[in-house]
Amino acid sequence: MKRDVGLARFLLLAVVLSVSSATAWQIWSTREHALAEIDVGNLNLAKALNIYADGVFTQSTVLLLGLSERLEAEGRELESLRRIQTLVRGQEQLLDQLRGLSVLDAQGDSILQSRTGESSGNSSAERAYFLHHRNSPSRDFFIGPPIKSRTSGEWGITISRRLEDPDGRFTGVVAVTLAVESFLQPFGSIDIGSGGAISLATTSGQLLVRYPYREQDVGRDISKSPNFLRHYADVASGTASFRSGLDGIPRIYAFRKSDRYPVVTTVALGQSEALRAWRRQALLTLGVVGVLLAAMAMVGRRLIINIQHRVSAEASLMATREALLKANGRLELLATQDQLTGVANRRGFDETLSLECRRAAREGAALALVLVDLDYFKRFNDTYGHLAGDKCLQAVAAELQHCANRPGDLVARYGGEELAVILPRTDLQGAKDFADRLVARIHALNISHRASPHGRLTCSAGASSFQEIHADGVEHRLIEAADRALYEAKKSGRNRSAS
Ligand code: GH3
Ligand code: MG
Ligand code: MG
Repeated sequence: MKRDVGLARFLLLAVVLSVSSATAWQIWSTREHALAEIDVGNLNLAKALNIYADGVFTQSTVLLLGLSERLEAEGRELESLRRIQTLVRGQEQLLDQLRGLSVLDAQGDSILQSRTGESSGNSSAERAYFLHHRNSPSRDFFIGPPIKSRTSGEWGITISRRLEDPDGRFTGVVAVTLAVESFLQPFGSIDIGSGGAISLATTSGQLLVRYPYREQDVGRDISKSPNFLRHYADVASGTASFRSGLDGIPRIYAFRKSDRYPVVTTVALGQSEALRAWRRQALLTLGVVGVLLAAMAMVGRRLIINIQHRVSAEASLMATREALLKANGRLELLATQDQLTGVANRRGFDETLSLECRRAAREGAALALVLVDLDYFKRFNDTYGHLAGDKCLQAVAAELQHCANRPGDLVARYGGEELAVILPRTDLQGAKDFADRLVARIHALNISHRASPHGRLTCSAGASSFQEIHADGVEHRLIEAADRALYEAKKSGRNRSAS
């Protein structure tokens, strides 16, 4: 039963643990699944925006290539510059993203501005793209950090190319400026939630455009950011989750580098927003499983308490049974024991005699009985009092008990001051000898009995024995024979035995 309590506890714990771990695993795997889906969506979006950026940059580089070829071939005469300006204005109409085109001489002074209002002669000697081309002989296109227009205050991204003379000497720079706005507009038209962000940066870590737009982010150098270094540095595309270094919001990022230009497009969703559906589902699952587990725990607890109650009831039942058995044993003893002398009572005598008769019949052995009666005992009582008579009876019974010391011998109080001794496996001679011994031992007790002719307490004994007992009623005949012998002993003067 106690083991049942342990088993029930173990079972309950095992069920709770396995259901909890299965639920945790299910919630974790659905989260992984949701993240994988978000990654796929983000990567596709980053790829599409990258293609858009590539297209814009390609249009700009085609324009720059044509211009630089013409400038280098046709020279910078006023007439030729005017023709170029007309051409550029025409192209500007076709290219929405284009905010301006400028040609700088070797000192960084503007010699041609496509835009009306942007006066020629402004120095761009300190602009990063100018310094880059002046210092580098490379004829590759350069995507510079965003610059702010001195006249309109708008932010733009410059793509530029070095101009050279036929000897390869630096003669200036031709640059187009793309409006940051032209990137922000498509970025902003995409639903990325309130915590999302889309950005375009150079692979060297210069932020070109970022949506949602904050002016302080334009041109920000993120090349030293641990996130940038860890996630974007060496691979063409990928996904990652981290807390933004710009606004501290945890996001799920996907990025894609351009195959042709040194730029990287990043699409990010706010983590908590992106996982909202998963979280709602997970909370629902947790709630349902939690309620089920709580119900199971309650039922299990009830069950364990019931088992514990049964265990304690069973223990007390066992204790009661034990006590009852002991009491029964005591009662049984009391039922067959004489209270005054401590030897067997008449009931004990009858039961044992019947048992021994059956045993003797079974074994074909002899069974003897000796009846003992105190002589002149009425007088003893009369002389010494009833209490003294009782003590005397106790002493005689103890003496008989002392003599009948073989296994199976039984001393009993037959009634009044008559005692009996059952002697299994004893023939008549043995019984007679035993009876003689008894008479002598009582005599030897030397209990004073002045009303007796013997002057002391004596007894008479009658012995009987039967062998090969078959018939019923043997007990009766055994008692009768012993009684007859006792009568004989009394008649022939007492203080003796007869058989
Ligand atoms: P006898 O020699 O012929 O046996 O004479 P007796 O006086 O012993 O005669 P009997 O055996 O008939 O007497 C029985 C007496 O034993 C009667 C009663 O006073 C006494 N007696 C019987 N039972 C008890 C007992 O439990 N206690 C006491 N003190 N005396 C008892
Ligand atoms: Mg008597
Ligand atoms: Mg007597």
